[in-house]
Amino acid sequence: MNYKELFIGTDLYINTSDQKKTERIYLDSAASNLALRSSQEISQEYLNYYANAHTKVHAAAKFTTELIVWAENTIKNFLGADDTYSVVFLGNGVTFPLNRLALGLSKLRPEKDTVMISSMEHHSNDLPHRVNHEKVMYISGFDEKGDYIGFDLAEIEQQLESSNGKVNYVAITGASNVSGEISPYHEIAKLAHQYDAYIIVDGAQLVAHASVSLVNKEDPLSSVDFFVFSGHKIYTPGSPGVLIGKKEILAQMEPIFYGGGMVSSVTLKDFTVAEHLSDKEHAGTLNIPGIISLGCTINFMQHVEMEKVYAKEQHLINYLYAELSQIPEVILYPNANITNKVGVICLNLQNIPHELTSLILNDYFGIAVRNECFCSHPFVKDCLVEELWDIEDESAVNLYRGMVRVSLGLYTTEKDLEFFVQSIKKIIGNID
Ligand code: PLP
Repeated sequence: MNYKELFIGTDLYINTSDQKKTERIYLDSAASNLALRSSQEISQEYLNYYANAHTKVHAAAKFTTELIVWAENTIKNFLGADDTYSVVFLGNGVTFPLNRLALGLSKLRPEKDTVMISSMEHHSNDLPHRVNHEKVMYISGFDEKGDYIGFDLAEIEQQLESSNGKVNYVAITGASNVSGEISPYHEIAKLAHQYDAYIIVDGAQLVAHASVSLVNKEDPLSSVDFFVFSGHKIYTPGSPGVLIGKKEILAQMEPIFYGGGMVSSVTLKDFTVAEHLSDKEHAGTLNIPGIISLGCTINFMQHVEMEKVYAKEQHLINYLYAELSQIPEVILYPNANITNKVGVICLNLQNIPHELTSLILNDYFGIAVRNECFCSHPFVKDCLVEELWDIEDESAVNLYRGMVRVSLGLYTTEKDLEFFVQSIKKIIGNID
């Protein structure tokens, strides 16, 4: 099935530099994916009935409250979470819930002053944990020779073993925004729990691309404690950051935002924080249209079925990898063919700055890709040869230090990728 027409902005034609009118090809879905038209329309329609939530009297407010609860339940169901989990909406990206967790968990278990992270994380799943803990243990995705090995369970276990129970939690990406690799997060959760550490999964790049089940009934130790994502990573721009986590842990964490809505009573002397979990976290007015829109998108994804979404993307990314790996001038990162991955490929063209490749793709071919380091400097540095990182000429840093990233969404077609490969070949043929 061609999903293109279901998304806003996939039917856009633009003028390229040579004045040709070209269909815009959007291959930057890992940054933000395009909006699902139907969920934007429903949320627009809802505005006719708009009212703030949480009043027991007027109908529109009750309707809004019910819709928020519906969205929470839809999210739980989609992520295979049971009633031991609660959904919290925080800010407008994945970064907010990650900061909330880092601060909350560091205060909850101050005696555990260490966190474990991979060196392949987006900065948002690194810096908040770093600044809130004394010590960080990094798992490297590379062996001593510099070859990519991905998420190494033996190394994780060995580091946990050596930490003497000091690791508060392991924070790991569900799928990398650079390599696209899907991490073995259930296995990592099991290891973490064996050493009394919690597990946070950064679901930014996973949630729209593969099915997720937080609970593992057969092996409860491998269930996930916290999963974070946000609407713009699942076809819902402008929507909230989402934290879904174990109630028993969330209940023990002090709130970080204070204000109306999160208290049950207030006097001038003191106040009582609401017992209801998501209320306790929801200070002030929520992004209600965004939440409703997100619920609608997730509903749509459930109908499409995540197994089919994953299979479609596998077909496309394997096709793209096979095509690109036949072109000698294309350097693919990291230096391994990853089998379990979402639709992300990073590359450079030999002797051509990533900035120039991306500019030509945009200006001459109407193809949107992302370039530079994707807020993952350590990982990109580990992937690149030294000449592309240790650049002495300051003016050349932005041109060379980094790579080009191609990332797919449900609207991406094989035709888009064929055109991308042809465009890459033309760039190589024209620049010597
Ligand atoms: N984690 C990963 C893996 C990401 O790819 C991103 C954004 O690209 C983030 C976290 C941060 O997300 P946001 O910009 O929504 O805060």
